[in-house]
Amino acid sequence: TAKENGRGKFCVFAPEMNQRVFEYLWLDTNLRKALENLQLHIHYQPKIDWDGEVHSLEALVRWQSPERGLIPPQEFIAYAEESGLIVPLGRWVMLEVVRQLADWREKGIHLRVAVNVSARQLADQSIFSDLNQALKEFQFDDCPIDVELTESCLIENAEQAHSVIQQFSELGAQIHLDDFGTGYSSLSKLAHFPINAIKLDQSFVRDVHKQAVSQSLVRAIIAFAQALQLRVIAEGVETKKEDIFLTRNGVNERQGFLFAKPMPAEAFEKWYREYQSKTVH
Ligand code: C2E
Ligand code: MG
Ligand code: MG
Ligand code: MG
Repeated sequence: TAKENGRGKFCVFAPEMNQRVFEYLWLDTNLRKALENLQLHIHYQPKIDWDGEVHSLEALVRWQSPERGLIPPQEFIAYAEESGLIVPLGRWVMLEVVRQLADWREKGIHLRVAVNVSARQLADQSIFSDLNQALKEFQFDDCPIDVELTESCLIENAEQAHSVIQQFSELGAQIHLDDFGTGYSSLSKLAHFPINAIKLDQSFVRDVHKQAVSQSLVRAIIAFAQALQLRVIAEGVETKKEDIFLTRNGVNERQGFLFAKPMPAEAFEKWYREYQSKTVH
């Protein structure tokens, strides 16, 4: 019977393969629905300036699945990139962030938010007009959105990346290079992209105060950034000791569990108000 045939077909896969196929099919049916049924949510993680102030956050998407609970991006972004779903997903994130920023602005909270953009989204020309339209609709004179692109994304799609950076910059977005130091890309190539900041990857940050090699690397990366007049944002700062080393060596902003985990908008708002009241101005 057909049923037996179907079963027979599945048996040609190794068990891990079977698992992967199953996962792909599950994502294929469910992520699309999740996007339509508003099961995606954005969590916000603050970045702390050198002087302790918060002016900017990072938007990190999560999926609240009725079946599986809260699913982190590592479990569906790669699939979204492969399937192309990252394009509508990325557009949703961008527009939702603009709406959220307008909501905060009404409450007297003025912030910028950095949005992650995947290589696969570089070909999506409609993102610029959609963003522009949203900024007009919510009456933003200055664009409060920054864009995080990875090194490999720039190097592997140099021409497209240049055009995307230019178009985002024209709208007033800043460009941040995410996961910096993990991409094996040549510094001279990177130097040609008009970017505003690098995000030092958390692999350099972890235990940096304990390891001489990491310290030299981090100092070299900061010197590189400073030579190009780029700001340095450290990711994944978990301990006070890491923070002290980074700040002393010229990191401009820090982001990590030491300060705050990524939180839903309402929780962030509460955190921010408490943080504001504790910070001496
Ligand atoms: P990323 O952009 O490098 O984001 C930083 C990741 O580090 C986030 O993981 C964040 O929750 C985590 N993190 C922050 N502070 C700490 C810390 O102190 N310690 C540790 N161990 N981790 C920390 P998350 O939220 O799971 O996101 C993972 C990746 O998924 C992101 O890495 C980004 O590449 C991708 N991603 C998330 N949201 C989006 C999105 O809207 N669009 C696209 N294209 N990619 C996204
Ligand atoms: Mg990022
Ligand atoms: Mg990163
Ligand atoms: Mg990362």
